[in-house]
Amino acid sequence: QCVLACPVGALTEKESIDDVWKALADPTTHVVVQAAPSIQVTLGEAFGLPVGTKVTGKLVAALRRLGFNQVLATDFAADLTIVEEAYEFLGRYEEGKTPFFTSCCPAWIKLVEHYFPKYIPNLSTCKSPMAMFGALTRAHYPTERGLPPEKVVSVAVMPCTAKKYEAARPEHGDGTRPDVDYVLTTRELVRMIREAGIDFTRLPEESFDSAFGEATGAGAIFGATGGVMEATLRTTSWVLSRAANPRSFVDAPPPVEFRQIRGETGLKLHHVKLGDHDIHVAVAHGTGNARRVIEALEAGEKIDFIEVMACPGGCVGGGGQPILGGRDHKKISLDYRHDRADALYDIDSHKSLRYSHENPTVRRLYREILGQPGSELAKKLLHTHGYREKGKHPGGRPQG
Ligand code: SF4
Repeated sequence: QCVLACPVGALTEKESIDDVWKALADPTTHVVVQAAPSIQVTLGEAFGLPVGTKVTGKLVAALRRLGFNQVLATDFAADLTIVEEAYEFLGRYEEGKTPFFTSCCPAWIKLVEHYFPKYIPNLSTCKSPMAMFGALTRAHYPTERGLPPEKVVSVAVMPCTAKKYEAARPEHGDGTRPDVDYVLTTRELVRMIREAGIDFTRLPEESFDSAFGEATGAGAIFGATGGVMEATLRTTSWVLSRAANPRSFVDAPPPVEFRQIRGETGLKLHHVKLGDHDIHVAVAHGTGNARRVIEALEAGEKIDFIEVMACPGGCVGGGGQPILGGRDHKKISLDYRHDRADALYDIDSHKSLRYSHENPTVRRLYREILGQPGSELAKKLLHTHGYREKGKHPGGRPQG
C-alpha cells in the first residue's frame, strides 16, 4: 500500500504500518524497534506540542504501548558509527586518500552513485547507524536473549522514506532477509499512535531499554546538519591527541564542540586544527549544496572530510517528519528546522558523556566482540563490502 509522501503528490512512499501491526499482533515474534535521534525532537509536533519539544520519554512510552518488545535508541549505533568512521577517516587521511565522504544519508549515497560515480570510492564504507543497529540486532541480539533468530523482527523509526530504500539494499542483509525488516517514517508512527487511541501528550516519561546501553551526546546530534562531522571530529581529535601523548586526554580533553560547522548555511568550508593537523572540512545540506561541494572539488578545492545530508537542515528536516501547518506551506515557520536542531544540541549539552568513544557499551562491544575499530569482524558487520571500494554501485554501474 502506498500513501502520499510529498506535499504536491508527485511522490509516494511504501507504507509499512500494516506489516508492523501484523508483527506486533503475532505472539510468537519478538519485535525490536530503534528510533533515530531526530524523532525525539519532532514527534511531539504532530500532537500539538511546540516545535523543538523534546519528547524522548513519551516516544518510548508510546512505542511500548504499541506493543514493541524492546524499545531502543539508534543513538547508540550512531556512537558506533562515529568510532568506526573516525578511524577510517584517519586511515585514509594518513594515506593521502581524501576527500572522505560521510555515508549515513542514503539519498546522498544515491546522488553520488548516479551523478558523480567517480567519487564512489570516496564514500566511507561505514554503514549508517540504522544499518549498523540492524546488523547487530540480527547477529547478536537473538543469541544474547536466547531467542530464535527467525522470530526477531527488526523495525526502525526514521525521518525519511530514503531509509526504506536503504534497508532494502542488498548490502544490508544476508541475501534472504534484510537486517531491518520494516522502516516506519515519523508520520507513519504518528498514524499508529492515533490508530491505537494513545493520548500522546498525557503519556508518562519512560526510558529506552538498555539492550545496547546508553548513547552519548555525540550520537544525538546526528540529526542536525554538521552533527555527524562534529561527532567524528570529537573522536578523531581524541585519537590524534592520544597518539601524540597518551596522557593528553587526562591532562587536557580535546575539544568537544565545533560550533563553526553548526548552523544552516548551505555549504560551510572550514579548516579545523587537530593537534598538528590542519583538516579541511566541508558541511553541506540539501542536494543543491551537495552539488556545490562536488563543483568545489572539481575546481581543485582541497577538502579532506565532507559531510552531506540531502535534506535541508539534515534529518530534522527529513521528508518523513511531521509536516508543519498541514499541506499549507505558508503556515510553515522557516525557523522550525533550527528549533529542532537546537533541541538536539541541548540534549547533547546535558549528557555526561559527549564523545562516542566514551560510550561504555561501545567500549564493551569492542572489548568482548569486535576487537578494535576497523577489525575484520567490525568490517564484516559494520561496513559495506566491495562496491564502494571498486567504484560500482550494487546495480553494477561502472565508475565514470
Ligand atoms: Fe534521510 Fe534526509 Fe536524513 Fe538523508 S538527510 S538520512 S534523506 S532524513
